[in-house]
Amino acid sequence: HKSISLALANEAATLALGAQLGKVLVPGLRVFLEGDLGAGKTTLVRGLLRGLGYADKVKSPTYTLVEEYSVSGLDLFHFDFYRFTRAEEYLDAGLDEYFTGDGICLVEWPRNATPYLPPADIVVSLAVAGEARIATIVARSDRGEACLTSFPA
Ligand code: ADP
Ligand code: MG
Repeated sequence: HKSISLALANEAATLALGAQLGKVLVPGLRVFLEGDLGAGKTTLVRGLLRGLGYADKVKSPTYTLVEEYSVSGLDLFHFDFYRFTRAEEYLDAGLDEYFTGDGICLVEWPRNATPYLPPADIVVSLAVAGEARIATIVARSDRGEACLTSFPA
């Protein structure tokens, strides 16, 4: 599958990448966001939502587990499973419901809900590199591949 690597010199570059990614997403897509604490996962989602026209505050779902957005005719669900101590918390919270419909799911710390989380269509990995970041975007399904064909839009 297609894989793209990019250097992100500053926060603005991470926001811009999020906005670019937002342009190619389709309903029902699952995007996993990998990378350590502070790597820029929430920043990328903030750029993605702003790019779609969302003007309000984009909060980290660290405590709420999920934040829901409706913008540009799309439903988007932003998850953060950082605080899970057991993957079963994903089921206990009823979060699997979010993954059955047309909502676009953006997931931080997906491995904390393994093996219950359905597989990703696209994985974005962020790594700290000095003061900057390196992003790698990989398609993990045919649907994800189709979206990345037109990336960057
Ligand atoms: P995460 O959700 O991965 O824990 P956050 O997005 O909450 O990370 O925080 C990332 C931090 O790194 C923020 O302070 C943000 O301003 C900063 N940051 C994001 N992208 C870059 C970048 N490309 N270069 C330098 N700093 C960045
Ligand atoms: Mg975060």
